[in-house]
Amino acid sequence: MDVTWSSLQLDDPKKVADVEKYVGGFRLSDDTLKQVQEIFLNEMKLGLSKDESKRKQSSCVMESTYLRDTLHGKEEGDFLALDLGGTRFRILLVRLHNHQYSEIFKVADIPDAILVGSGDQLFAYIADRIFDFLEENNLHGQKFPLGFTFSFPMIQKSLNCGILITWTKSFKCSGSAFPMIQKSLKCGILITWTKSFKCSGCVGEDAVKHLENAIKIRGGMDIEVVAIVNDTTGTLMAGAYLDEKCRVGVILGTGFNACYVEKLENVEKWDGDYEEPRQVLIDTEMGAFGDNGVLDFFKTEYDFEVDQVSNHVHSFTFEKMFSGHYLGEVVRLTMLKLISEGLLFGGTSSNEINQRWGLKTEHVAFIDGEKTDENTRNLLKEMKLLEHGGKDDIAIIKHVCALVSERGGFLVGSCMAVLLNRMQEPDVTIAVDGSVYKHHARLHQLIMRKIEQFAPKYKCKIIRADDGSGSQKFYQQYKRKAVSNQNTH
Ligand code: BGC
Ligand code: MG
Repeated sequence: MDVTWSSLQLDDPKKVADVEKYVGGFRLSDDTLKQVQEIFLNEMKLGLSKDESKRKQSSCVMESTYLRDTLHGKEEGDFLALDLGGTRFRILLVRLHNHQYSEIFKVADIPDAILVGSGDQLFAYIADRIFDFLEENNLHGQKFPLGFTFSFPMIQKSLNCGILITWTKSFKCSGSAFPMIQKSLKCGILITWTKSFKCSGCVGEDAVKHLENAIKIRGGMDIEVVAIVNDTTGTLMAGAYLDEKCRVGVILGTGFNACYVEKLENVEKWDGDYEEPRQVLIDTEMGAFGDNGVLDFFKTEYDFEVDQVSNHVHSFTFEKMFSGHYLGEVVRLTMLKLISEGLLFGGTSSNEINQRWGLKTEHVAFIDGEKTDENTRNLLKEMKLLEHGGKDDIAIIKHVCALVSERGGFLVGSCMAVLLNRMQEPDVTIAVDGSVYKHHARLHQLIMRKIEQFAPKYKCKIIRADDGSGSQKFYQQYKRKAVSNQNTH
């Protein structure tokens, strides 16, 4: 499959040039990507510095998870896991015995009203679903430790959560095969909601306390919340369970973020002990990379508009360029521009295409790189534009989907190269999870291309850290005719 920038082929070169005027901004030169790398490295360093005023300048909070090591695979027991923060909320019962793994799961939608309601309502809703889950599976009366994957930026240390001294308890969270430790992981102060979540009343507070409280109010359950982790941390742990060389965990789904293993000597702000291993897992929160304006120099008008209409204006700049919550909208806005310039569908639009957020990221994923025009035609049909769409229109839409996807893949790959060059380990595995990565056939190669180009000294492999059969069954509904990800997983 093609791993270079898409080039538009039309009979009329003048039309190609006209279209390029409006889409050329997605194409980033290698010099620009190198510049992004330098900026990213600088943001990382600022985020890790001791001096608070420097830390504040960085758009990447580089939060320490206080986790000092990955897994060893000897963990045992029955655990409940909650996964909150992506497209669906999930509850899992995970059984780890003799390195055998089984699970029961339940997927629940979160009603829109709850997404923007109060934090208390959200957690009450969650507690109710846990209650139902226990009932449906005849699990009432049993005591469970619970691991909470909370896919939002959080501060993982506060006065009432100590710094990890020893590994105490282990369990599995988010269906990813990753045991976790107690104590230092028992609190997560929410920095901000992201994606479609915009509840009131939790920011600056401990999500564990909220959950515990809601479980108590609901009553009838014997559950102890023993850990809270970000989903990238969970993915890194799950990856390490599968491959001991795993040092990076990435989510490329509704949102985007990465967690990696950093040497303590590089973490100026480290306030824990220096026992072996002298390293700590850092949650970069790089979905927010650029929130301080450092990436404005290459943002397109479409990126600025997506930001303006999003739930969280002026934040999550990087994520808004390519993650699942936004990618479709970037493409839709570009199409609208081309329509208004008379370059698509002879200037005709439809209510469907005019609908804010009406074009889904999965459309882009299925169109990008398709050999036939089938998915593109399906989109036009849904958008009631098929009768206006000729050969050129199909080619232009494919081109837009390709460019936006390539920009995303190349940006992610370039930043992964920065992590590899920083870690300086000869052979590193990156674990990735998330709907966009799974269903977007070309992303894997696009990311790998830039890693190989920009971190040539290191061997690198990307594996998929799927979080168990639960998610597989779940995604089947969404599969459609998607070209399944042919990666080396
Ligand atoms: C959140 C991160 C999370 C990522 C992927 C972002 O919006 O800030 O904490 O890891 O989404 O789910
Ligand atoms: Mg998730």
